[in-house]
Amino acid sequence: MQNLKINPQRLWDSLMETAQIGGTPKGGIKRLTLTDEDRRVRDWFKAECEALGCTVTVDEVGNMFAVRPGRRADLAPIAMGSHLDTQPTGGKFDGVLGVLGALEAMRTMHDMGYETNAPVEIVNWANEEGSRFAPAMLASGVYAGVFTPEFAYSREDRQGLKYGDELERIGYRGTEKAGAHKFGAMFELHIEQGPILENEGKMIGVVQGVQGMRWYEVTVAGQDAHTGATPMYLRRNALLGAARVIDRIDAIAHEHAPNAVGTVGLIENRPNSRNVIPGEVFFCVDLRHPDDAVLDVMEAKLRRALDEILTPLKLTFEEKRIWHSPAVRFAPDLIDCVRIGTERAGFESRDMVSGAGHDAAYVARVAPTTMIFVPCAGGISHNEAESTSFEECAAGAQVLLEAVLEYDRRLG
Ligand SMILES: [Zn+2]
Repeated sequence: MQNLKINPQRLWDSLMETAQIGGTPKGGIKRLTLTDEDRRVRDWFKAECEALGCTVTVDEVGNMFAVRPGRRADLAPIAMGSHLDTQPTGGKFDGVLGVLGALEAMRTMHDMGYETNAPVEIVNWANEEGSRFAPAMLASGVYAGVFTPEFAYSREDRQGLKYGDELERIGYRGTEKAGAHKFGAMFELHIEQGPILENEGKMIGVVQGVQGMRWYEVTVAGQDAHTGATPMYLRRNALLGAARVIDRIDAIAHEHAPNAVGTVGLIENRPNSRNVIPGEVFFCVDLRHPDDAVLDVMEAKLRRALDEILTPLKLTFEEKRIWHSPAVRFAPDLIDCVRIGTERAGFESRDMVSGAGHDAAYVARVAPTTMIFVPCAGGISHNEAESTSFEECAAGAQVLLEAVLEYDRRLG
């Protein structure tokens, strides 16, 4: 088995070189989707991939695919990818490390003349950030069939410019149908955007999936009444009921420790007057867990708590789930390749679940997918001060390469 080592300095130089495209005085990047800066970094990326003998194609919503052939054309390609667009005050690593780490892995294979079984490719997903054109992860969403291309084209920025027109303007509206470009697997290297790895002194996060999220709105109704003239036994105090429910929501999250979280962060008390017993309370509930089955249990407990707590207080209530995002579980065989790759590269790791959304979450709906996290200082991201070290970037790219090679060997 050949021992391929990425070139950390070359990776770092590419990160710093492309950081100049849209570079900000505070050391971050402002490279909004489909701007001239986005076009320049796309042109740079295309030229670098073509210099390695890759064929670069673009799909109808602007996703870029750089393919290096393998020994067997009958195998679906192994993809590595993330995004080159940034927030208006973005950092140098969010998304960019995933694409340039993949480029470094590809350059290493090329330098060594390493022949894979399957084709290997790098993907630059368009409009991950959703900052200029909402929603986020727009083009990977089209790729996965979550949105139509027409929906993407119709998105407008604050000047009223349309995604479709801007894509055309910068010359990156491709002909390939979105989603037609199938993967055998996709690996996304990304900075953690949270504080856990740094806190525990671990280099690599072996990502198991993306947590599920559910939001609820609850209105509790009682009776407004005079605080002095209404005896305790005749009150219908909506705030008292809400307070007991909020306490119970905290307990429900603790019952599903360590991965569950439950929060009430918004509450309106009506009429909110010092000498009126509250007649109505509105609040929002946010429940999250990596497993939808556990979220189902938490949801059932929430609904039971509402009835058990509020009815004896002679209160009525309305409850509605207003939004949910299902949990994503990454492919076990790909996670295994990341684990083996991490061991081979000699880094300490921990299993984790992503708290943020990523292109990989959509791609996971249509292809086996997983992610690799590296630390970022203080867990700070979406910020010009975002910082991941030379060593951490190199570690991520090396593990990405090892994981792809491990997956590829299994196809042989
Ligand atoms: Zn990102």
